[in-house]
Amino acid sequence: MLELRPNCECCDRDLPPDSPDARICTFESTFCIECVETRFSGVCPDCGGDFSARPIRPAGSLRRFPASLRRVYKGHRAYAAPTAAPDARQSPPSWV
Ligand SMILES: [Zn+2]
Ligand SMILES: [Zn+2]
Repeated sequence: MLELRPNCECCDRDLPPDSPDARICTFESTFCIECVETRFSGVCPDCGGDFSARPIRPAGSLRRFPASLRRVYKGHRAYAAPTAAPDARQSPPSWV
C-alpha cells in the first residue's frame, strides 16, 4: 500500500492525498510535478526510474487507510537550484 507521503521530497511543497500534482517512482519517492519536469526531467534522482501520477485514494478508503503525515525531505541539492530548497518543515501538513 502506498504511504501517500504528504510533501514533495525536493521542494517540500504540500501534496495532499488528493493532489493531482503528486508524482511517484516505483519506490514511492514523491515529488511535485514541477520538480519532476523542471529539475529531474522525468527521471527519479534516487533510483533512475521514471515517474507516474500518484493514484488518488478515494475518501472512504482514506478514512480506513490514512495517508502518511510524516514528511520526507531529501533536498536533492545536487539537482535543485541553490536557493530554491527550503529547510524541512517538521510541522504537520497544512490540511490536518
Ligand atoms: Zn517539488
Ligand atoms: Zn525512485
